[in-house]
Amino acid sequence: MPIESRNPYTGRVEQQFEAFSWPQTEQILGEAHTAFATWRTTSFEHRAQLMHRAADLLRERADELARLMAIEMGKPLADGRAEANKCALCCDFYADRAEEFLADKPIETEAQRSFIAYEPLGAVLAVMPWNFPFWQVVRFAAPALMAGNVGLLKHASNVPQCALALEKIFHDAGFPPATFRTLLIGSDLVEKLIADDRIVAITLTGSEPAGAAVAAAAGHQIKKTVLELGGSDAFIVLADADLELAAATAAKARMINSGQSCIAAKRFIVEQPILKEFITKLKTHLQALQGGDPLAEGTDYGPLARADLADELTEQVEDSVKQGAKVELAGGQPEPGSARFTPIILSQVQPGQRAYEEEFFGPVAIVLEARDADDAIRLANDSRFGLGGSVWTRDAKRGEQLARRVEAGAVFVNSLVKSAPEMPFGGIKKSGYGRELSHLGIREFVNQKSIWIA
Ligand code: NAP
Repeated sequence: MPIESRNPYTGRVEQQFEAFSWPQTEQILGEAHTAFATWRTTSFEHRAQLMHRAADLLRERADELARLMAIEMGKPLADGRAEANKCALCCDFYADRAEEFLADKPIETEAQRSFIAYEPLGAVLAVMPWNFPFWQVVRFAAPALMAGNVGLLKHASNVPQCALALEKIFHDAGFPPATFRTLLIGSDLVEKLIADDRIVAITLTGSEPAGAAVAAAAGHQIKKTVLELGGSDAFIVLADADLELAAATAAKARMINSGQSCIAAKRFIVEQPILKEFITKLKTHLQALQGGDPLAEGTDYGPLARADLADELTEQVEDSVKQGAKVELAGGQPEPGSARFTPIILSQVQPGQRAYEEEFFGPVAIVLEARDADDAIRLANDSRFGLGGSVWTRDAKRGEQLARRVEAGAVFVNSLVKSAPEMPFGGIKKSGYGRELSHLGIREFVNQKSIWIA
């Protein structure tokens, strides 16, 4: 894929970049490796000062960053600003809490003193997706840098300006340049980087095939990976739910980032007695949303990030309909080759149909009918993915019990699934492994060292 900014709404190429050569890439890696030796000895206090400054810059530059997201991947300006501000929160969170999360942990044994120490590892390679071009990176970079690691970012090829803007923020905040670098490279150089001894670990957020390729390469080199992959989150609506609230949130949850979020609600599993009413309400809420130019204030959702992604989604929908799914709300691309895509609702979705089996990464709501709560859980768990999910019921206790039975890394009761710096984030099954955010996220890329003093 060329490394370029192409506005998905207009189709215009805004800027092109020449990919770094291997010698260029290797030089940056060498500098990062050298920088680690010093960076690891800096105090938490010093790192926190710089990280708070990075948070301030994210807030100060929110308008500029939102513009970049709009032109590179189609995110509406208001959502882009919110993303920049959320990144700032995450930087502040780790600036304030890293020292506590990585403090020596005493363990009682027969030794005079024994404890776990958490030590940085070195240069971590981050392979990242375009859908939340700042948030995905910051939730890796903030804990990694606070822990004393250094980071190398291989961002998705369609968001190079976002990648460079984030690098600049860390540099302007005072981080030594070699502690965080953007590598403008294609995925072809990733395996070579992983094979280099100076890369100690890899984190990837993206699709299942990319995760499998990177994990295989890392496996050959005995290197740790964290994988945040796809999802097909269940949104379970029980007959006793507040139906209006559930339907309004369902529309929001499906349309986050034009439906291109790993934790967007994708499968709406609804108890039979309320199915028809739920579909009617969902339709109303989806139709009320304003699609359009992401650079225009007031646009609720923009185009998909690339035209080829919209073409692929259309194919998934068309195949599902051929396989028996029913179109409850007609939408989609205005024409093939366009990134614009209006919401679709599919019902009568059955095993074997693409809509049942695959992740739909765009504004397509898949509605499944459940006989009762047990059947809803069965359907929710009949998925290769296990990232997030939600349960809607007026009975909070029952909601909690059901939440425990959903096979996923996060389940919310009567709330939209979202990530927050305080809570761990990650999946099970084909959604990946490892956790980001919270105290667990910062401990993924550290040596958890046992120290025993007899
Ligand atoms: P993608 O095509 O897998 O790309 C993600 C990153 O991986 C990009 O930087 C890409 O580089 C790189 N890449 C692709 N193939 C690779 C390979 N064989 N070896 C090394 N690197 C490779 O995914 P996407 O289309 O950007 O994102 C959509 C997917 O990400 C969805 O499945 C979504 O659910 C998932 N996602 C998961 C989470 C989570 O937290 N669990 C969050 C967001 C998204 P190029 O751009 O150069 O190809």
